[in-house]
Amino acid sequence: MEIKVELTQNPKTKPASDHLGFGNVFSDHMFIMEYTEGKGWHDPRIIPYGTIAYEPSLMVFHYGQSIFEGLKAYKTDKGEVVLFRPDQNMKRLNESCDRLCIPRIDEDFAVEAIKKLVAIDRDWIPEAPDTSLYIRPFIIATDPFLGVRPSNTYQFMIITGPVGAYYKEGLNPVKIYVESTYVRAVVGGIGAAKASANYAASLRAQMVAKEKGYTQVLWLDGIERKYVEEVGTMNVFFVLGDEVVTPELNGSILPGITRKSCIELLRSWGLKVSERKVSIQEIFEANEKGLLREAFGTGTAAVISPIGELYWNDRRITLSGGRIGELSQRLYDDLTGIQYKKKPDPFNWVTTVK
Ligand SMILES: *Cc1c(COP(=O)(O)O)cnc(C)c1O
Repeated sequence: MEIKVELTQNPKTKPASDHLGFGNVFSDHMFIMEYTEGKGWHDPRIIPYGTIAYEPSLMVFHYGQSIFEGLKAYKTDKGEVVLFRPDQNMKRLNESCDRLCIPRIDEDFAVEAIKKLVAIDRDWIPEAPDTSLYIRPFIIATDPFLGVRPSNTYQFMIITGPVGAYYKEGLNPVKIYVESTYVRAVVGGIGAAKASANYAASLRAQMVAKEKGYTQVLWLDGIERKYVEEVGTMNVFFVLGDEVVTPELNGSILPGITRKSCIELLRSWGLKVSERKVSIQEIFEANEKGLLREAFGTGTAAVISPIGELYWNDRRITLSGGRIGELSQRLYDDLTGIQYKKKPDPFNWVTTVK
């Protein structure tokens, strides 16, 4: 399929590279492609970023049949533009498609679409340290129809925008509220898919945690409220003595690409990484025994987010003396080093945009 290109006649003013937020500025162009039953995916095109008119009966507005992805393009010191494991994002997109009854997309074609869009808007990739171009592919159900069934038509879109650090705190430790009332997902639900609806389900707990002065929620399993699942928009790791522990992918946890990359890096350093069930009780007990050395979240947006404090049922613990743990720092340096091509890329994770 050939991607048609219509370039903007009104390029926007780009924000200063050293004053970037996250998710509030969008580049000049977007990618869009249609799905029609019987015809498959068709009409891929890159057009100026802008509003789209829809009927209010659009299925996505009512039943939330919508999934997304998130990855970044980086500009290296040499001015080269690279992506980090985009094949993994498109593989996961299709896994989300399967769960939400959305027709699959050709993964290689989708990666090509991302590359083409990024190449067109390459001047939007900021150059200040730790900045990047955030890429948001997503699919929505577009039948104008009320009634619960999978849609017969969809749109796949990709938008991008320059971003700075995800957390205002930067690589400083964040305060985490362990949530015992609300749950994000349950096994058998859609927690393992990157479905928009998972975020709708998370808002209330996030709001309450914010009011109490916490940055993010740590989710426990939806049945026993006992086992750690993940942290808001990130997977979570704990360093317990010599063991690095992260919850196993049990069907309600999002299989993060940063998570997977961290596991691969940690193992390549000769460290013991266990993907297993880990209860919040175990974490607090490990802390009492002096075994809880550090904890951190992993995700594309923040890369590594050290956890400085955990609050659970009126108990509060401070980790790594409220500072960045040794492994958190090393993972951050190595991952971002690979992403910006400042370090060797032994796993071939980085791919160039021509
Ligand atoms: C996207 C996401 C993550 C992190 O995944 P990455 O591929 O590492 O960016 C973790 N948890 C949830 C709920 C997510 O949506």
